[in-house]
Amino acid sequence: GLKMSNVSHMFGKNRVLRDISFDVAPGELVCLLGPSGCGKTTALRLAAGLEKLQVGEISVSDQVVARPGDYVEPEKRGVGMVFQDYALFPHLNVAKNIAFGLRHFTEADRSAAVKRALVQVGMADYENAFPHELSGGQQQRIALARALAPTPRIMLLDEPFSGLDVARRADLRDTTLHVLKNAGIATVMVTHDPQEAMYMADRIIIMNEGEIMQDGTPEELYFEPQNRFVASFFGEVN
Ligand code: ATP
Repeated sequence: GLKMSNVSHMFGKNRVLRDISFDVAPGELVCLLGPSGCGKTTALRLAAGLEKLQVGEISVSDQVVARPGDYVEPEKRGVGMVFQDYALFPHLNVAKNIAFGLRHFTEADRSAAVKRALVQVGMADYENAFPHELSGGQQQRIALARALAPTPRIMLLDEPFSGLDVARRADLRDTTLHVLKNAGIATVMVTHDPQEAMYMADRIIIMNEGEIMQDGTPEELYFEPQNRFVASFFGEVN
């Protein structure tokens, strides 16, 4: 699983995370939910290793991957990610896009991993397609396949369904849940959509201004909100 302990983060004088701690167990999906600018993406980028940790500690499968001054590179953390700014390479076909992160595999293992990941996301017939030939939802499936191919222990998803229409969104949600649960991966998903979090998450962490307001199951947050902020957040869900 993933463990973030007492993580704080500043951009210049702007304190964007304030003493954040949470765990995600293998096979568990936790949503980070909160208004724009509350620090969700920063928390994910720290877990991924895309941002240097300033305060606190991050562990993956009980091994410390980040503490101040001590840092394991993103590729060596066993972490898969689907971020908007990690788009597919337009000049590479689907198979090569997925194989890109598998350079350390043997040729045979790489080819098998690409095929397996494509089957997992329901895109087995698209190895030779180029990104521009795919719909937005299909591209997001490929991005998920690319993140799954190296068999990560942790998956980090940042608004992975943004830009999709309602039907495709529902479809991809279900695929994503199914694949991650089956593989026993610990997942953190950033969203600002309370309904999406209610539907997908085992636990929801509500954030505001860099702080965790509540961490609980969807039922706990809905029926026993610990403060007005959490209550108002779920007032919109029915
Ligand atoms: P959104 O839902 O809009 O993506 P978020 O909750 O993911 O928001 P973050 O992207 O983590 O929020 O940003 C938290 C705060 O940190 C914001 O005030 C943002 O402007 C600031 N911030 C983020 N990245 C940087 C950076 N590289 N340099 C300076 N400030 C940053």
